[in-house]
Amino acid sequence: MARNINDLDILTEEVLIRLPRFLKIPVEASGRHVHLKREHVDLLFGKGYELTPRRDLSQPGQYLCEERLTLKTDKGILRNVAILGPVRKDTQVELSLTDAMSIGVDAPVKESGDIKGSASITIISDLGEVNIREGVIVAMRHLHTTPKDAVLLSVKDQDLISIRIDGLRPVIFEDVLVRVNEKYSTAVHIDYDEANACGYIPGTTASIVK
Ligand SMILES: [Zn+2]
Repeated sequence: MARNINDLDILTEEVLIRLPRFLKIPVEASGRHVHLKREHVDLLFGKGYELTPRRDLSQPGQYLCEERLTLKTDKGILRNVAILGPVRKDTQVELSLTDAMSIGVDAPVKESGDIKGSASITIISDLGEVNIREGVIVAMRHLHTTPKDAVLLSVKDQDLISIRIDGLRPVIFEDVLVRVNEKYSTAVHIDYDEANACGYIPGTTASIVK
């Protein structure tokens, strides 16, 4: 039976609504790391010290540094922790929940940048140490995307979405925070606990579940 125009319109609309399910989004797993503010770079490495970029990250302008730090609490220590540049407004330590438990830190799950009321820790370098009263978080899993890709994906800034991680051990993650900025490159960021839960390997992709 031939379809009339109205049927086709409905069909097109359905395809558009379903489209996000079929768009594959790259997934990246972030290990524990520290972002430092200028004042803390000075205290840990010397006044005016510039961190040494080692390799660029997928988000434009962000890079992994050569320098490493130690994180310490009364109950434990994590050595050889990565620093991500450039310097930020506030120092922030991002751990997985497993990391946090291993050193007895009560780190809340929060959006990156929202450190109010988060946990304290001591950050140590070869030259010095800094005690931060707050700044330790477990970063909420999130989707970085551009305004253009946000339209394709039918999402908007600050949305909480569900995504299905493809692969041998597929998982649906709920409450994935959408962050839209024209400077971003579209990718889902999860931590190592989440990466292990879904059998993450480089090249893993995700799709949005509506
Ligand atoms: Zn991210």
